[in-house]
Amino acid sequence: MKNTIIDLRSDTVTKPTKEMLDAMFSAKVGDDVFGDDPTVKQLEEKVAKMFGKEAALFTPSGTMANQVGINVHVSPGDEVICDESSHIYNYEGGGIAFNSGASVKLIKGDRGRITAEQVLECINPDNEHFASTKLVSIENTANKGGGSCYDIKEVRRISKVCKDNKLGFHLDGARLFNALTESGDTTAETGALFDSVSICLSKGLGAPVGSVLTGSKEFIYKARRVRKKFGGGMRQVGYLAAAGIFALDNNIDRLKDDHRRAMEIGKVLEGCSFVENVLPVETNIIVFRLNDKYSDTRFLQLLEEKGILAVGFGPQTIRFVTHLDFTEEMLEDVAGVLREM
Ligand SMILES: *Cc1c(COP(=O)(O)O)cnc(C)c1O
Repeated sequence: MKNTIIDLRSDTVTKPTKEMLDAMFSAKVGDDVFGDDPTVKQLEEKVAKMFGKEAALFTPSGTMANQVGINVHVSPGDEVICDESSHIYNYEGGGIAFNSGASVKLIKGDRGRITAEQVLECINPDNEHFASTKLVSIENTANKGGGSCYDIKEVRRISKVCKDNKLGFHLDGARLFNALTESGDTTAETGALFDSVSICLSKGLGAPVGSVLTGSKEFIYKARRVRKKFGGGMRQVGYLAAAGIFALDNNIDRLKDDHRRAMEIGKVLEGCSFVENVLPVETNIIVFRLNDKYSDTRFLQLLEEKGILAVGFGPQTIRFVTHLDFTEEMLEDVAGVLREM
């Protein structure tokens, strides 16, 4: 077989294309901590406008976008409601506790998705024994749920519960564009339901670095101060913002190709003797469980010997993620390797 590595570990592994690099090299830049970088401003205005928000903030990572957002919403001793498998709780280094001193109430959702009824049950009474519930955060698509998407009707119900109970509502939209590609919902409809939304430019959209947090003018004013405290104020960062603008302009429509390829891999896996089950493939993430034919470490090793990289995602559980640099030819290769195992 060929010596190219097929990297299905994450959609963060993509490298900028020639066109994206050209956009980056020709970016106009300035010192963004002084508010002087026109390309960062352009990206922030673009994202705010897409979501019908007043303002936005460029951050170095999705983790920082979420953690800055959470920090603006809560004070020490407050409580955040989210699904038990959510990224903000599991994969951000305990950041809610470390950065914001807040506690978390976890919900057992359906493949990462929670309901308005579940949220309602988790809101603490106004009583000195309890942490004050201040924020609800959901993830769309839900990573650990295998790239599952929310039905916007449920998001509307949750949004109403938040309004009725004076809670903030945050969207971890690291892969929101994957979700919108499948649901057909718009960024404007989505933005209207949340107080704050974070999106990643460096996942399926293919930029090398960067995320954006969007919300009201007042929210983003506070977020800018928090970003500085967290060490995320950046200087001539328009070079990276230019990659983000390029990604938003060029790489959203093609996400459907990633989804089609993921669904094909899902189908192949359904027919493999070593597979216990495959979570329904809705977007670009494939999560499956191995039976006892191979241990998870052995399986990953066998794949690696064939030049295919993937990650373990819990006991006997494997995740593949399709992306911009995963081609039709690579799909054929992966399908062939899996069928032979
Ligand atoms: C990747 C990801 C993030 C942010 O990750 P960074 O690596 O910090 O950019 C946030 N939420 C979800 C669901 C993610 O998959």
